[in-house]
Amino acid sequence: MKIKADFDLCESNGVCVGMAPDVFDLDDDDYLVILQEDVPEERREEMRQVVGSCPKSALSIEE
Ligand code: SF4
Repeated sequence: MKIKADFDLCESNGVCVGMAPDVFDLDDDDYLVILQEDVPEERREEMRQVVGSCPKSALSIEE
């Protein structure tokens, strides 16, 4: 499964980074970076929670 981000929607509040710091990061200019676009299937539930927690609905899971 792949994690996608709409960088136009992201407001860099770091919620996803706090929940899964090995997948998401903020760079020095506070722009979202996806460290790991391909996330193993066994982390689907965790990723679903992260996607659902983004206050800007900027994240999605792609099959
Ligand atoms: S939780 Fe959403 S708005 Fe916040 S940094 Fe992550 S993608 Fe951006």
